[in-house]
Amino acid sequence: MLLRFLIGILLTTPAFAWRYTVDFQNGFYWQTLPVPFTVVDDNPTRKTKMENFVKMAMKEWEELGTDLDIWTFLQGGGTANIIRWSDNFQQETNMDPGSVLAVTIRYTGGPYFAKSEIIVNGNHPLTHYDTHLLTTLTHELGHTMGLDHSEKFDAIMAPSLQTSYKGVTRDDINGMTAAYEENQERSLTGFVSPLAYETETEKNALSCGTVGAVAAPGSNFLSLALGILIGFVRKLISWFKSLK
Ligand SMILES: [Zn+2]
Repeated sequence: MLLRFLIGILLTTPAFAWRYTVDFQNGFYWQTLPVPFTVVDDNPTRKTKMENFVKMAMKEWEELGTDLDIWTFLQGGGTANIIRWSDNFQQETNMDPGSVLAVTIRYTGGPYFAKSEIIVNGNHPLTHYDTHLLTTLTHELGHTMGLDHSEKFDAIMAPSLQTSYKGVTRDDINGMTAAYEENQERSLTGFVSPLAYETETEKNALSCGTVGAVAAPGSNFLSLALGILIGFVRKLISWFKSLK
């Protein structure tokens, strides 16, 4: 009985927690992969630095993580998919510039993602730290492929910034691989979402894409521990009920 109880706890503790964004769930996808991205910036020094970080973030997913060809980096433009700094983050995105580090906007056109834009908050001090910029870009690139926030506290797709850069986790790799394969499947079969032509004009799908401010040390762990504890108590209660 006790053994069954313990196995029950193990089975009900989620091993992975990646999720798709609502628009990806609703059937939108990239017509062709890999998805091209370019950096747009009037300041050449800042542009070069951002380009190097974007390449590192892509490499993190593709070479160290999934072994997939997800994005293409275009040095000289030539695509509508852009990554850029914003010095007027609040006005441009309507997001809180004090807590949001970046947003990813996915636009849809017909059944497809028409374009995507990653806007990094230049008004937030944390985006000017190399480590946090790399984490932020890696996280936002995940959003471009239809990955939403993960409930795994140490995932790159977790909603809160990690205090030190740890790169993509197994949870992220599983999520990205699933999103990539789902995208390819839809592309090959020419899948058309029932919602594809609902609106006449291009829809601005700002469905998430935020990286929260750094949480107080330990708070992520605390919330996870609490989640497990609640699951344990629930299991315990149902076990006691079953004894009657
Ligand atoms: Zn996010």
